Amino acid sequence: MGLFKDLLFNLIFILITTLACQLFVIDRLRYVLTKNCKWLVTCIAGFQILFCIAFSYRETNGFIFDLRLIPVILGGFYGGPITSLLLFIIVLLTRLPFGGNGIWVTFFCTAGITLIVCFLHKLYQSQNTRKKLFIATSLATAYSLSVFILKNILTDQPINMAYAWIYTGTLIASMLIVTYLIEIVRQNEILREAVLKSEKSEVVSQLAASLSHEVRNPLTVTRGFLQMLKDPMLDQGKKSFYLDTAIEELDRAELIIKEYLSFSKPQTENTSTFCIRMEIVKALELLKPYANNFSVKIQTVLDGDLVIMGEASKFQQCLLNIIKNSIEAMPNGGNICIRAIESGAFASVHIKDTGIGMTPAQISRLGEPYFSTKQDKGTGLGMVVVYKVIQEMGGSIETKSALQKGTEFTLRLPLGKWRSGQFRHN
Ligand code: ADP
Ligand code: MG
Repeated sequence: MGLFKDLLFNLIFILITTLACQLFVIDRLRYVLTKNCKWLVTCIAGFQILFCIAFSYRETNGFIFDLRLIPVILGGFYGGPITSLLLFIIVLLTRLPFGGNGIWVTFFCTAGITLIVCFLHKLYQSQNTRKKLFIATSLATAYSLSVFILKNILTDQPINMAYAWIYTGTLIASMLIVTYLIEIVRQNEILREAVLKSEKSEVVSQLAASLSHEVRNPLTVTRGFLQMLKDPMLDQGKKSFYLDTAIEELDRAELIIKEYLSFSKPQTENTSTFCIRMEIVKALELLKPYANNFSVKIQTVLDGDLVIMGEASKFQQCLLNIIKNSIEAMPNGGNICIRAIESGAFASVHIKDTGIGMTPAQISRLGEPYFSTKQDKGTGLGMVVVYKVIQEMGGSIETKSALQKGTEFTLRLPLGKWRSGQFRHN
């Protein structure tokens, strides 16, 4: 019973630290850490190993039992070979002070498992949950068997079957639970990313409609001028004016298409510092045709170099979603005012419209998946994406709204770097 109790204590600790790390640390640090967080996996798994060995079940003959194998295997699978090697060293260093014959069992069995994990870690990551569970529990079974066989060889004592069953059973069940939980949280994260992507393709197709309209205008103007150029009586001055205007209009059409394409193509994840003003200007360039369709005028007052940390493409997606909502809130035209200013250690982005506004009940439902008042024209996912991205960037959102008066969204984001300068864009 003592063995079972100590193993359960190990399991609870592993579960709490793994979940806490996945839910809070990785989610929040994603914009601070670069691509992967191997060192974080190493730290957490290393800490779990220390804890498991410190609170292990100790036999009188120099053997100790605990669930250290779980962080050794899963840490290695998610962190890679270097993590595996470091975890192996941590196991040896932590186990060493306890002495006894068990050290040799630890050494050989953990070395064997570490080698297999290094060898299989790529394969493991490409498997589905069921196969991952199978691989992890097979390794746990192999480890447990080899521990008891080696123990038997080293001590010449018969295997205590009750112990062997309790240890193996608890180890396998714990391995199943921890692996399954890690996978559930990871899949949840993948799903949230998918929502972000599907919302983006929705915006892409909605913008495409107004884009074709916007491109047709400069093309019609160009056609008109080219037609006028056919006139043989035209003097040189007029000719070059017509040509210049035609070229200008074509450039405008090209710019509209270029901006649209750069937004619609899939973006790679890239966390870096970026300038808020640049992203607002780019978003407005994209939304101009849409705003024109709704007779909406957009005014901006943007502080020069407000630099923040995050993924520029996702931040731009947030701006698009918020401003697009503002435009849609003014079906008969109106004004949007966008201000980006420094306030203390934060950058504040205010997006204010003169649209239909929201009731307090509607405000409280913002960010709830599929909440939309636009019937079949809305997805109810735009604000979900906005809240998720801003939260991941360590920022916050404030909403003020009055029915038939308008709405103001304020995004507050921690500043990365600040240089002075003012820029106006109308
Ligand atoms: P969708 O735009 O597809 O409906 P969103 O998540 O972007 O979904 O927005 C959810 C809802 O929030 C909208 O349907 C609308 O009722 C409300 N909303 C968002 N922004 C504004 C705004 N600026 N003015 C009025 N209502 C808004
Ligand atoms: Mg929307």
